[in-house]
Amino acid sequence: MRKISGKYNKLLSELTDSSDNIVMVCHHNPDGDAIGSMLGLYRYLQYRGKESVMISPNHVQEFLRWMINIDSVIIACDEPGRAVKHIMGSDLIIMLDFNHIDRAGALADHILASSAGKILIDHHPGPEINVDLLISEPGYSSTAELIFNLTGELEGNYFTDGVFMEAVYTGMITDTGNFSFGTYNGDTLRDVAVMLDNGLDKDRITDRIYDNFSVNRLRLRGFVTYERLIFLEQYCTACIYIRRSDLDRFNYRVGDTEGFVNIPLSVKGIIMSALFIEKEGHIKVSLRSKGDFNVNKLAAAYFSGGGHKNAAGGRYEGNMDECLSFFEKVLEGIDELQQKNTG
Ligand code: 5GP
Ligand code: MN
Repeated sequence: MRKISGKYNKLLSELTDSSDNIVMVCHHNPDGDAIGSMLGLYRYLQYRGKESVMISPNHVQEFLRWMINIDSVIIACDEPGRAVKHIMGSDLIIMLDFNHIDRAGALADHILASSAGKILIDHHPGPEINVDLLISEPGYSSTAELIFNLTGELEGNYFTDGVFMEAVYTGMITDTGNFSFGTYNGDTLRDVAVMLDNGLDKDRITDRIYDNFSVNRLRLRGFVTYERLIFLEQYCTACIYIRRSDLDRFNYRVGDTEGFVNIPLSVKGIIMSALFIEKEGHIKVSLRSKGDFNVNKLAAAYFSGGGHKNAAGGRYEGNMDECLSFFEKVLEGIDELQQKNTG
């Protein structure tokens, strides 16, 4: 068992034990880790005899809808009054899988205004949220992996409830592309070993997450790979851009573009990839890299965003054509990428 929480344990259990109205909030556009860590902690708190309330700022993607207890998550954009009422009435708010309050979307102001105790559990570098207890561990693959170890340490042994492990494993595989990138190490895989020894059905979860898409999504993937992929070899970079009309053509459903940002990285020599998706009034930006190249810094400097070294995101205010030429301009200024090309 890894000892993370010598530093957190006592405070964490005091905070949760002395709280009666616990609210958990994950980030806007929740991914598998945001949802997995929230559902996992929800299950653990139930086991400890605590009912909690889960809130997501907006909708949960289709590929995560199979998860147990997902229907208990309050979707704040659909039920803002209900979400805010819970936040204002809570005595403990646990924020999961984000490092900046803006990631809580429209809930941010209410969280800041609430007088509840606040805990942040996260693995993104450089947290900038004022909380009573900051559990920030960038060495972990996922917030879910952190939850697995924190709860294990609170219990004195890993918590291996089936529903809990499914949620945790979902967070771990979605943040590491099924253990192909991201921050994971031997400890992560040892955690997986513990889960497998305790009956985790990994194939069922892999199937639910990776082989659960629509025909339209497969065709959209083919289309963008063929028609919307730009190679900028001189910068060891490639990008995919998707227009609103492309999404309409393939009857886009939330989640259909999940994973597309990784497609260009399969090409030899490409160390950075970008995905640009046209939204109303702005472009959503996703960035991925291999090795040392830090897309977190790029997202923060040019796209009002952030994330991790090898996976980050943000936004561009403007139209797609402007965004693409802006991106090329940005690349021109990055010596590191040109050196990779020649080096
Ligand atoms: P994705 O490209 O999958 O949307 O996001 C990749 C990573 O970047 C995630 O870890 C996410 O937390 C972070 N990220 C994505 N969009 C934003 C953003 O607008 N702001 C910040 N700070 N981080 C983001
Ligand atoms: Mn995460």
